[in-house]
Amino acid sequence: MSATLSKTTHSSKPALEVRNLSRIFDVGGGILRKARPLRACEDINLIVERGEVLGIVGESGSGKTTLSRMMLGLMKPTAGEILIDGRPIHSIDRHELSRKIQPIFQDPYSSLNPRKTIGQIITLPLEAHGIGTQSERNLALEQIMSEVGLPPRLKHSYPSQLSGGQRQRVAIARALIIKPEILICDEPTSALDVSVQAQILNLLKDLRASHNLTYLFITHDLGILDYVADKVAVMYMGRIVELGTARTILAAPRHPYAQALLGSVLTPEPELDLPDLHLGRGFPDPLNPPTGCSFHPRCLKAFAPCAQIRPQTIHQTGHSIECHLYPSDQTGD
Ligand code: SF4
Repeated sequence: MSATLSKTTHSSKPALEVRNLSRIFDVGGGILRKARPLRACEDINLIVERGEVLGIVGESGSGKTTLSRMMLGLMKPTAGEILIDGRPIHSIDRHELSRKIQPIFQDPYSSLNPRKTIGQIITLPLEAHGIGTQSERNLALEQIMSEVGLPPRLKHSYPSQLSGGQRQRVAIARALIIKPEILICDEPTSALDVSVQAQILNLLKDLRASHNLTYLFITHDLGILDYVADKVAVMYMGRIVELGTARTILAAPRHPYAQALLGSVLTPEPELDLPDLHLGRGFPDPLNPPTGCSFHPRCLKAFAPCAQIRPQTIHQTGHSIECHLYPSDQTGD
């Protein structure tokens, strides 16, 4: 068996870089009807340095999940590129890619085979990649179960015998056992009770340090990002409308949509994906997006140009924003 459990070496390039990334779906085409474009992601640019946590926040339908699927190599972009360690994702072989980047999803139960024991589930990636001897796999299993806080006896149990929090720990162990560099955490705590959420967030924080991990943390809850993220990207209708350090965005968001999201953190029903944003009107039809700034029908600060002209992205000192309220000379810190 040639493959080993050591981490792959990497360059000094950013762990993850996204350049002008777009994904357009053709929807509703037929014999007599032309398909209409749905711009799930449009002109996304991101850099995530090694060891950093980038939070991506937005409502359902904002494009977060499409973005994460492209980063996992599960979906091809329509335009633009994704670089991992400076290498285009399409040039990385599927096996190598899954050793570099692993997902953790919202509902671990649906991704855990109910007929396999916890031990079999966690070690499956090692078998799939032909990594280690049986005794090396057993040792790796014991180590990772200990690291994620699962008692060793549970390796003989089945997913249905575990609590929600334990199942999420299994999903984390399974993702980490092949020592990836990047974890894409897609709403990893939103299906859990509030007290368990805190435990899983603490675990992810500890593992980040001990495994030198880079995280992409996708959520609709800015409150969680306050706890885990270094940088935050706010997405609306497929575009990043504000990007900056978590400290800056969470203390004083500038884009009106980011301001509304932050206000929603205190909603009495935080489990709802669309909290009361006090925006008056619902999410627009993505097949018939508004002209100009796509947020203008809901924006409390909209003014004359907003319905006609799409705002440019303004970059300054590590912060970027897409809104007519901020001409280029007023966005610096
Ligand atoms: Fe609101 Fe106009 Fe800024 Fe869009 S560009 S967020 S409509 S103020």
